[in-house]
Amino acid sequence: EQTDDLDELRPETPVTPMTATDIKVNVSLPQAAERGAATGADGVGLLRLEHLILGLEQTPTSYIEEHGENAFVNELVEGIQTVADEFYARPVRIRTLDAPTDEFRKLEGGESEPVEDNPMLGHRGIRRSLATETVFRYQLKAFQRLRSVGYDNVEIMFPLVNDADDVDTIMEIMADVGIDTAKTRWGVMIETPAAALQVESITDRPVDFVSFGTNDLTQYTLAVDRNNERVSDRFDETHDAVLTLITDVIEVCRAKDVDTSICGEAASKPTMIRQLIESGVTSLSVNIDAVRDTQHEVKRREQRLLLDSALAERSE
Ligand code: PEP
Ligand code: MG
Repeated sequence: EQTDDLDELRPETPVTPMTATDIKVNVSLPQAAERGAATGADGVGLLRLEHLILGLEQTPTSYIEEHGENAFVNELVEGIQTVADEFYARPVRIRTLDAPTDEFRKLEGGESEPVEDNPMLGHRGIRRSLATETVFRYQLKAFQRLRSVGYDNVEIMFPLVNDADDVDTIMEIMADVGIDTAKTRWGVMIETPAAALQVESITDRPVDFVSFGTNDLTQYTLAVDRNNERVSDRFDETHDAVLTLITDVIEVCRAKDVDTSICGEAASKPTMIRQLIESGVTSLSVNIDAVRDTQHEVKRREQRLLLDSALAERSE
């Protein structure tokens, strides 16, 4: 560990430092948008659509059966719009539905959800979306509607993809819904070792960015259930295996001009920040309460890099 002498220079009254790396915020519900925007973050790096959907307290299928497709799409449009307004013109990255079946089972209509032994390895993320395409298409429609009325700050991202085949299927459906992938900022999450190892072919597709979901990437890389307290001491996002996957992906992406981002809980951890800044990540997205500290930590790491390279030059 390097010494932290720059800490002494930190002002008593917090100021928002300008960082080369974008520091964004994770927003779960539209009600939190105002507070999120007030942090001065560079945008929303993760707006989880399942929070909007779980807020309806009914499974999507049951909600659509009762209220109709338009009502469902409208709910999504309104929720996203609140956030997109609050942040305009800062980018807002929405992520399609990613709740596991055990979450859905708690909702009205949840009894028709499958019972799975391993929900985290089951019907969730993009696999659920591609298997039950109707609900996926409604989410894309909501996104497309916002774009078509001028919300050019909304972006879309897809959870739990494994490989380029997933990306190809997503692109076909986006085109079918009328989303022009060339004019839309979109990307995929890197949350499985498979996706990390396949990043070369994934980024052969015209994705604008990839985003690390380190909660899942850690769980799947280390085979440690993220919700199981018995193994929680083994859940380590800064494990070498996880960091190696992340730095390798960033290297591939930088060579191909694909933005990289992180939106898992670990994004605000100093060890992770250090690794990411040294690897050249494009942006970080953290919880509302962590924005300010993350801005300072990133600034410190960026300055350290500049100093190191200046010193290296001088000693050449
Ligand atoms: C993650 O896996 O790190 C992530 C951001 O997605 P979620 O926590 O919603 O699975
Ligand atoms: Mg995840």
